[in-house]
Amino acid sequence: MKGARYIFLSFKYKKIDTPDIIKSPQPNTQGVSIMVKIISVLSIFLKYLNKLLYKFILFLDSHTISIHDSKSHSTYYEPFRKFTVDGEPIIQKVEKLDYQELLNEYYIKHNKQLKPVSKRKPSELNFKGNCPICGAPHDYIYENNVKSKQLLCKVCNHTFTLNKDFLEKIVLRCPHCSKTLERIKDRNGFIIYKCRNKHCSFYLDKLKKLTPDQLKECKKQPSKFKLHYIYRAFDINFDSLERDSMTDLNMTVDLANIRHSKHTLGLILTYYVNYGLSSRKTAAIMHDVHQVKISHQTVMNYANSVSAMVLPILENYPYDLSSDLCGDETYIRVKGKKHYIFFFSDKIKKIITSYQVFSKRDTFSAIVSLYQTFKKYAKLPDKLKVVVDGNPIYNAAWAYFRSVNIHFDLFQVIGLTNNTVTDKDYRPFKQVTERLNRTFKDDYIQMNGFGNIKRANSYMVLFTTFFNFIRPHKSLGYNPPVKLDRFDKLPHMPSKWLSLLEMSYSYIN
Ligand SMILES: [Zn+2]
Ligand SMILES: [Zn+2]
Repeated sequence: MKGARYIFLSFKYKKIDTPDIIKSPQPNTQGVSIMVKIISVLSIFLKYLNKLLYKFILFLDSHTISIHDSKSHSTYYEPFRKFTVDGEPIIQKVEKLDYQELLNEYYIKHNKQLKPVSKRKPSELNFKGNCPICGAPHDYIYENNVKSKQLLCKVCNHTFTLNKDFLEKIVLRCPHCSKTLERIKDRNGFIIYKCRNKHCSFYLDKLKKLTPDQLKECKKQPSKFKLHYIYRAFDINFDSLERDSMTDLNMTVDLANIRHSKHTLGLILTYYVNYGLSSRKTAAIMHDVHQVKISHQTVMNYANSVSAMVLPILENYPYDLSSDLCGDETYIRVKGKKHYIFFFSDKIKKIITSYQVFSKRDTFSAIVSLYQTFKKYAKLPDKLKVVVDGNPIYNAAWAYFRSVNIHFDLFQVIGLTNNTVTDKDYRPFKQVTERLNRTFKDDYIQMNGFGNIKRANSYMVLFTTFFNFIRPHKSLGYNPPVKLDRFDKLPHMPSKWLSLLEMSYSYIN
């Protein structure tokens, strides 16, 4: 669009070279009058063209603005490569070595004892265990790479990684050619292994399926194609998922002792959460409409404390969830940087089951979000169905849960979030995710990002509480996803917020 406008301006101000005939020292009056006529006709024509161009630009402008507008609700997603899980590898135990035998061998070979590692620098990793391969005591262990927590055993010469040493005790082999898999990448929460064997049937099969054009492309950019067998070994302790979940938020102020009335608190929450107003706008409306003087900081302090109070309700309420879940990612900004939320929700009941903010859009974040969702079931249904978009992190998360014996059916709909979804089975899932995203985005836009991740989480708790317990839903007969009897006779929104706060006391131990 900028280009078009530039043409328009340059056109408008373009200097027209004076024709030579006008510059002539002896003016030919007849020639001049003809030139003046031509110029005036030209100038009318130029004006007409100008007008036409202007109209055209206006048309283009309105068109591009409408494209942007319609995009603002749907382009919340970033592209990703298609991904498939390649099946389980062959797992074998490593033959254990005996460090005493190795020390003896060393003595025989070199005619001297192998000395323990002389430690000049103080230990950074503070490893006190034994080598997982030969059992040598920690005196024989070097800190090979502190950043990636890698250690090296002086006795057996094997490297191993702190907290991942169980992986050193196994050999992973390709299920297609039995060759040992090579460890290629250490990611947060999992390690990627690859079969590099060029004669592996898996590799040859994939290679055969390439078109001649793809084959050419593959020779230039092999990383674009996934031809080798890949396995992701997870290194996430199931118990630690609880630790990585948001379990508490800071109570900024003691809500029992605030100087404003309870009704004022209810009003603030209604404006700030239900209507998604910023803390400044909420403070302004409290002053302009209700004559209550309050700073925007106090609005935020109250909001933070309320989120800490209602979090246990949100997490521990005995939800009655169906077996159909859908997941959707969205991003927000914390200190200007992209952060991610993996909204999982019940397709039928519309209840949001995960809403935590993560700094990374990775498998680990998806796993924690799914864990928080599963935790809200008294018992996981036998046929649990999870519908998500095509992001490969969900495949990896699915594989992780399978490894800890939690099974569900994963349905990945490429383009769940755009119009390419033709399967009518998935249309309801698509509608649920889109509606949730729109509701959240409408509210979030006014917030202009968050100063820190705790504040962002605090807002997510308030938003989700509102969405699950208060906000009427058209497809639920204008009831909220969770209908609370205690709201039956309450006259307005502020009283519903106060009633939720009262309810939170029975959830706090
Ligand atoms: Zn060793
Ligand atoms: Zn192989």
